[in-house]
Amino acid sequence: MYRIGIGHDTHRLEPGNGLWLGGLNIPHTQSAVGHSDADVLLHAMTDAILGAAALGDIGELFPDDDPRNKDRSSSSMLAIASDRIKKAGWNIVNMDCVIFAQKPKILPHREGIRRHVSDLLDLDINQVWLKAKTGEAVGPIGEERAIAAECIVLLETQPAFNKT
Ligand code: MG
Repeated sequence: MYRIGIGHDTHRLEPGNGLWLGGLNIPHTQSAVGHSDADVLLHAMTDAILGAAALGDIGELFPDDDPRNKDRSSSSMLAIASDRIKKAGWNIVNMDCVIFAQKPKILPHREGIRRHVSDLLDLDINQVWLKAKTGEAVGPIGEERAIAAECIVLLETQPAFNKT
């Protein structure tokens, strides 16, 4: 059996010293504002896999009024969500993601992000793809006031669960 899931996230940008994106700290003159490390890409991935498995969403698992989630690493949130779907009998087939950011350029960081995410989720690097789009200098993304990400994931039933 297969299931598809989608995740989306947006964070506000403010002057700062780097962005957490896909689990990496990317040098930039701005930072994303959020309760955790504000990693839009990992938040979108987390929501996509939880949604595909019908196992809640990132806000339910990690409420922002819980002090334990303050400055929590988004890599740890994604890993917890991944454990949750695996325990329910699902494996990730692939993820395809888009980052929406006027700056910085994402391409130089793409392979590093794909490597980090695939290692974190115990996937082959070719199961994780990523692209980036600017905001064409218009709207909150284009005016560098926000950064956003979307992710689509396909899950399949683990072989052991197929037999039962
Ligand atoms: Mg978020």
